Amino acid sequence: VSVLATGELDRLVKLLARLPGLGPRSARRAALYLVKQRESLLLPLVEALALASDSVRPCSVCGNLDTGNPCTICNDTRRDTSLLCVVEDVADLWALERSGVFRGRYHVLGGTLSALDGIGPEDLNIESLTARARAPELDEVILATNATVEGQTTAHYLSDCLSGTGVVISQLAHGMPMGGELDYLDEGTLGWALKSRQPVG
Ligand SMILES: [Zn+2]
Repeated sequence: VSVLATGELDRLVKLLARLPGLGPRSARRAALYLVKQRESLLLPLVEALALASDSVRPCSVCGNLDTGNPCTICNDTRRDTSLLCVVEDVADLWALERSGVFRGRYHVLGGTLSALDGIGPEDLNIESLTARARAPELDEVILATNATVEGQTTAHYLSDCLSGTGVVISQLAHGMPMGGELDYLDEGTLGWALKSRQPVG
């Protein structure tokens, strides 16, 4: 009987295996590594997880994850309030922040429309987006959904929703590889796609 048959380690492995990108094999390796590095890794990780669980919440304005509400980006008065960039997920927001080219604010949808997965407009942060799009200081909404079928379907739907608001609606430049997800693009490509954005319609 291996040591992994014991309840606690088995539970740790099973939980780790649910993380994106970690299969059962790498979960076993990670669990073993963690318990071996008790002082230098396991305990600091426990602390960081507890802190994140206590204090990280979605921003009620944009949907970003942060310890403050509104989040640091929404609260930053140096950011351009005339530009709003719509992304699928917080990971995409982080990718755009890494590229360093966007100085406006964000709106996180929380996913994409998908008939297959039964995700409709009411499951995404779309109502709050149309409300934000009516703010008098807003000039442009950039639809920065992924270059996937779902991402593009969602962008199409959003441009219809926003067409009555009077803002300019734009989309990341083509040349983004089809099937491309923002999070996997290098910062230069992503920055270029944003700078070369095209008006929709
Ligand atoms: Zn925010």
